[in-house]
Amino acid sequence: MPQIPYNARHLAGDTYVVPALTNAGFIEGLLIDTCEDEAPFAGVPIDLLAITHGHADHFSIGHVIREAGARVWVARDDASLVENPDINIRGMFSWAKPGDTLTTKLFQGVPCGVDEYIEDWDDPRALAVPLPGHTMGHYGFLTRDRVLFSGDAFYPMDLWERHPLPYAIDPGMVVSSLERIRATDCDWIVPAHARPIAREDAEEHIDFHISQIREIEELLLDRLRTEHTTEQAIAMVSAQRGLSENPPAYWLAVATVKGFLGELLSRRQIEFFVREHAGWWRTV
Ligand SMILES: [Zn+2]
Repeated sequence: MPQIPYNARHLAGDTYVVPALTNAGFIEGLLIDTCEDEAPFAGVPIDLLAITHGHADHFSIGHVIREAGARVWVARDDASLVENPDINIRGMFSWAKPGDTLTTKLFQGVPCGVDEYIEDWDDPRALAVPLPGHTMGHYGFLTRDRVLFSGDAFYPMDLWERHPLPYAIDPGMVVSSLERIRATDCDWIVPAHARPIAREDAEEHIDFHISQIREIEELLLDRLRTEHTTEQAIAMVSAQRGLSENPPAYWLAVATVKGFLGELLSRRQIEFFVREHAGWWRTV
């Protein structure tokens, strides 16, 4: 018997899911993301840790796994976020220095060294699948047992109640990545924060995710027929989506709503102007 994390659930072939707040994947010493608890990995030989993207909840104990001998792989665009999680926090605040109370837990973490870029990936245990949009350098991993670990690229329906406005820096890219997931030949899809989904059941979940993005776009196009400041647009979308009111949720919404505004602006469906030193948006 190969050594596997003690609470790992078998999915297919040699591929296991280590269930937690952030699910990890495991196949013969290759670990895909980490859980927040290091106990399941004690004594388990891990030679390679692949991190789907640079949010701290996906590499909570990455530094422990690396100290135990694993080489850490992250995409070029997200590597600096893993090596220095503070960069996410500064980026969220337009590179100025925010106070500690503002920041989401998801961005606070222990730095983890990065040894290789996923762009150079070549490992028989899994294929690296680029799935950008949640972050620039987000990757999924398709194991040779036809299990796709999709990180945060895909939110199945049950997650939307808790996350009515999933973090995305580029909703257009999120849609393209969802289509790439749909086109990936696999038997299972394992999102980082939800239960594994059999491929034959995934279609309606992918459709739902895309429909939610379209709904938010339509909402903005409709409401921006009356001009809104950036702040008003963020508040309007947050209220419509039923977000909870607290600083971390607000700052995550700032990034995501700006992602939508940028997308609609690049499609020339809305325009931006400055008046009385505030930034305003309106539907063209
Ligand atoms: Zn994330």
